[in-house]
Amino acid sequence: MFARSAFASFLLFATSAFAFNTVVIDPGHGGKDRGGIPGQRISEKDLALDVARRLRSDLRDAGLRTVMTRSRDTFVSLQDRVAIANAQRNAVLVSIHFNAATRGSASGIETYYFKSAAAPLAAKIQTRLLKNVSNEENRGVKPHRYYVLRKSRIPAVLVECGFLTNNREGARCLIAAHRQRLADAIASAVESAR
Ligand code: ZN
Repeated sequence: MFARSAFASFLLFATSAFAFNTVVIDPGHGGKDRGGIPGQRISEKDLALDVARRLRSDLRDAGLRTVMTRSRDTFVSLQDRVAIANAQRNAVLVSIHFNAATRGSASGIETYYFKSAAAPLAAKIQTRLLKNVSNEENRGVKPHRYYVLRKSRIPAVLVECGFLTNNREGARCLIAAHRQRLADAIASAVESAR
């Protein structure tokens, strides 16, 4: 049974490269939803939108069509985000978030997927982020039942770009050049997944 399922997942991965020309970019939170945890100093929603805008610019330069689930500081429900994603054909969804924890020492980058079709894209993004952004802890690529990942019919991944509750990482995320590196890494991973 193990060999059989291992072979099945190999086939899934081997055949999961798909042609897409559209990237749905989903900046986490927005409006009344700041993201993060109560009392958090650095606002997740603003940094997520900033990285998403930089990612949009990179992907457009690469000739991809982009759709933003929000392009301003507005509240968009998870249902509406999924509806935007599911209205697209030949598309993938990349959700941009920053992490938070009550334990201030928590740090690093992690990328999530739910459906196996999105696993290769998640792996590419995680690898490229760690390569382009030095001194970041690798928290790995993991399946998780996040709503947008479960409900999107297009392959969907969610990137946690670093912990805003970690003093060192939070300070780093406030630097525009660092957020540009994050966006550039995600963009080149998305381009390589086509
Ligand atoms: Zn978030």
